[in-house]
Amino acid sequence: MDTQHHPLISPACGTSRSLSSWHFGVPGRGPKVYLQASLHADELPGMLVLQHLRQRLQAAEVAGQLQGEVVLVPLANPIGLDQTWMQLQMGRFEMASGQNFNRHYPALATWVRESGHDVADQLGPDAQRNAHIIRQAMHAALQRHPPTTELDSLRHTLMGLACDADVVLDLHCDFEAVVHLYMEPECEAGLLPLARGLGAQAVLLARGTGGHCFDEVLSGVWWQLRESVALSHGADFVVTHPIPQGCLSSTVELRGQTDVNDALAAQDSQAIQTFLTHLGVLSGDANTSLPALQCQASPLAGSQYLLAPCSGVISYQKAPGDRVLPGDVVARVVNPLTGQSQDVCSDTDGVLYARHNLRWTTTGMELAKISGQNVRRLGPLLGP
Ligand SMILES: [Zn+2]
Repeated sequence: MDTQHHPLISPACGTSRSLSSWHFGVPGRGPKVYLQASLHADELPGMLVLQHLRQRLQAAEVAGQLQGEVVLVPLANPIGLDQTWMQLQMGRFEMASGQNFNRHYPALATWVRESGHDVADQLGPDAQRNAHIIRQAMHAALQRHPPTTELDSLRHTLMGLACDADVVLDLHCDFEAVVHLYMEPECEAGLLPLARGLGAQAVLLARGTGGHCFDEVLSGVWWQLRESVALSHGADFVVTHPIPQGCLSSTVELRGQTDVNDALAAQDSQAIQTFLTHLGVLSGDANTSLPALQCQASPLAGSQYLLAPCSGVISYQKAPGDRVLPGDVVARVVNPLTGQSQDVCSDTDGVLYARHNLRWTTTGMELAKISGQNVRRLGPLLGP
């Protein structure tokens, strides 16, 4: 294992932070898989999972089983980890700018087509060679757009480590949740073995959530580039100059914020190791039997986000993982002054995959998320 350190831009004299990455295998030999933990710095299950995975990969390295490259970033957000306000860790938004750490990643498909640097001019008939050219173009585009703030340099460094990977897994969690995965439809088939191994109870598909999240930018660049080149050069050009789906990526929600323990981390790291074997990154039996997928993939736009109709004490009637039907009471909000309560009901048929961890709600707060097969939401699909 090779450890690398990446200094971030110092926001003020006398302060400095850096990212660390762990590298296994030989760059350029075999498929590359990139995993990072805790980009939202208060979401810690992935951080422990990567500790377990590191041990597994070190053992695989000793045993000569590495057939590809694996990059782990065990602590993806040192800025957020250092933000504490009145004893609470504030890891989702950068306090200086108010920006979500998992939004605003660059539009790489645009950057690689800038005037004088248009990657379309370099494409040929070989899809794999085109993938290599596009990955080089992404690195060059990042070089042309140097960061100017500490937050930008965090995003820029993470992009630089991940943009040439075949598979990218960004490990997050929700407040209280079962395992669920966000991904673009282009990634569904390739990441299905991972969803099965992790026991995902929701696989949420969206092409462009509007958030420019880390994972969707990295898988999105490939199909966006294909569409963009078809528009500028014609549909026939992308047939004779094929652009493959060079990256499968996902935001993997490893349950809830307090689901951090060695038993779960061992289980999840085992599932990831099995997936690495399936990908051919590790040698071994790629036909290890996987459990059946516990859910049917569903559109993220089909998820119902249940909002509190009033403020009060929350009494949940359903737990993460529960199957919910239209009309089911998911939560009861009790007004402690009047004793009156209001039921919050589902009107979809799906799985409650996440709920809040607070038990007091203000009016309009998001209480729970339920998967659903029918599109019901338009516009931006994720919160700020
Ligand atoms: Zn997150």
